[in-house]
Amino acid sequence: VYEGPRRFRIASLPVPSPRPGEVRLRVLAAGICGTDLHIHEGGFFASFPLTPGHEILGMIDAIGEAVVGLEVGQKVVADNASVCGNCRACRRGESLFCENFHSLGVNAPGACADFLITKASKCYLVDDLAEDDAVLAEPTACAIHGMDRAKIRPGSQVLVLGAGPSGLILAQLAARGGAAAVTVAAPNPRKLQLARRLGADRTLLIDRSDPRASLEALKEASPEGFDLVIEATGAPAVAETAPMLARDGGSVLIYGINPEESLQSISLYQVFRRELTIKGSFAQVNCFERAVAALRGSRVSGQGIVTHRFGLEEFGAALNAVRDDPSCLKAVIRPEMG
Ligand SMILES: [Zn+2]
Ligand SMILES: [Zn+2]
Repeated sequence: VYEGPRRFRIASLPVPSPRPGEVRLRVLAAGICGTDLHIHEGGFFASFPLTPGHEILGMIDAIGEAVVGLEVGQKVVADNASVCGNCRACRRGESLFCENFHSLGVNAPGACADFLITKASKCYLVDDLAEDDAVLAEPTACAIHGMDRAKIRPGSQVLVLGAGPSGLILAQLAARGGAAAVTVAAPNPRKLQLARRLGADRTLLIDRSDPRASLEALKEASPEGFDLVIEATGAPAVAETAPMLARDGGSVLIYGINPEESLQSISLYQVFRRELTIKGSFAQVNCFERAVAALRGSRVSGQGIVTHRFGLEEFGAALNAVRDDPSCLKAVIRPEMG
């Protein structure tokens, strides 16, 4: 439980009871990602006190009244995001911008706990999925929203900057979603090896401390530029190079979470002359159904992406691994580990 930014402790809380329309999950795994590092610092609309954990895999443990179609013992992933349906954004059909956006693990109790309450309507059955695939449902749902935003044209050349879990999921979706070739660029050879195994056509080892040299290497790899450049690093110096790597008429998708206060320079003349499109992709609503289908159809695989497992007591170590350990791709909290 976080009392505020950077201040968390292991707390004993009463086991919650599901109200009508809700279920209680016994948490099997909670994925930890870069978003949790932002939440740790108080960013990403976190509200405190907070039990973190927005990537939720659990077993149905108790069922509230008026719930149909779910049974105790089923394995499910839960869509952490809910919208109000009543605000101006929702009433315009743009519920991603809901003024009352509700997200388990961000501004409501999440999965870094033995138990979690969620709406039954937010649960997706995953009895048939391996745990390392199922636990990627939330980041895959966000990546599917990213693909909706990107609108890849068949035959496109796609560049993914970054080979963290999101970069690797985006690369898989792009490779199987119409791209002629997917190039993944990152500073870590092990992650690039995994990118190739998961379906990237080409990888490029780049040095984050030298963005200019990286830019030159990437330009050399594709002199005409890429139809789509997906920025999945959240590193401002890398993000800044993305428009320069796009083909004339190409697009840039800002997917990584850059620091809120950072400002980058881009040439508006280039945006004008080369008709570049720069768009963002934030979280997701209503993408879980397709995310679970993509995992079930092996269009997205988590094999090799989950590298570290921790008990609840080791939450701090999990954050450190995601932040600092180059061998860590995806860390998960497994409450049964203690
Ligand atoms: Zn996440
Ligand atoms: Zn709303």
